[in-house]
Amino acid sequence: MSRSAPDAQVLERLSSLRQHQQDGRRSPHKPLLVLLALGRLSATGTSALPWSDAEEKLADLIAEFGPTSRTGRAQSAAYPFTRLRADGVWTLDRDVPMDNVSPLREGVTGRLEASLETALRNRPELLDEAARGLVESHFPGTVAPDVLVAVGLDPDLLGGRSGSASPDQRRRSGTWPAAVIAAWDRQCAFCGFDGAAGGAVVGIEAAHVRWFKLGGPDDLDNGLALCSLHHKLFDRGMLGLDDDLAVVVSQRFSARTSQGRTVYDLHGRRLRPRPGTPPPAERHVAWHRGQVFQGTALAS
Ligand SMILES: [Zn+2]
Repeated sequence: MSRSAPDAQVLERLSSLRQHQQDGRRSPHKPLLVLLALGRLSATGTSALPWSDAEEKLADLIAEFGPTSRTGRAQSAAYPFTRLRADGVWTLDRDVPMDNVSPLREGVTGRLEASLETALRNRPELLDEAARGLVESHFPGTVAPDVLVAVGLDPDLLGGRSGSASPDQRRRSGTWPAAVIAAWDRQCAFCGFDGAAGGAVVGIEAAHVRWFKLGGPDDLDNGLALCSLHHKLFDRGMLGLDDDLAVVVSQRFSARTSQGRTVYDLHGRRLRPRPGTPPPAERHVAWHRGQVFQGTALAS
């Protein structure tokens, strides 16, 4: 679908935030700030975000959807809040130094650059497209809807036209998912769920260990067949793998009911690939551990 020139310009201005780091390290901080501002703009008509709000909300988003980090909460929010200015899409109502929390606490408000904000406010469908482009560039399909909900945007906007594909985007293999699912005997590699609807699997998905969007290849040794629930928990960093390819459960995971707590039963369970099925490669497992897995694993 073609866009008007001004629309394309608006999307172009946000597109630099869609670049990923070459070495596969995740950098979702700035995109999360823009998504938070887009959520505000959509809900209230202004993207204005006082630091007093950002210090909580942005820090929550980064903790929940970013890689685990030793950086303190306020500091992790101060990085994008001050640095996004350099991208030309974000302004602060006072000139404060980069990365410094204390001056922000004196009462600083950030907002999207004025002409950008006006364009997005006047065109809700453009705002949706900007949000879709950002969230899809930084998160897999299992996580993107959760991010949108967390910033106050409608997760259904992901179902819209996919005008966000950039020319440099790699094409996904169409045959990889079926190959992965077959290689793992059409069952969840973690729990063994093997639901089928007639002859077709249902609720079983091919999961990338290293996210496709962060350079993960469509190779068998980067894939696991997982049930929908465990795919989601794996991509949200609540489940991971250790060096012996045993499942680990994050200490951050919690559940109240006995059914929810069955997730704990996975802890320590070794993957058992079929003969001829390559287990996940060490380098991909290491990437997942460093970039996705949240917090620390339960004690054995
Ligand atoms: Zn499962």
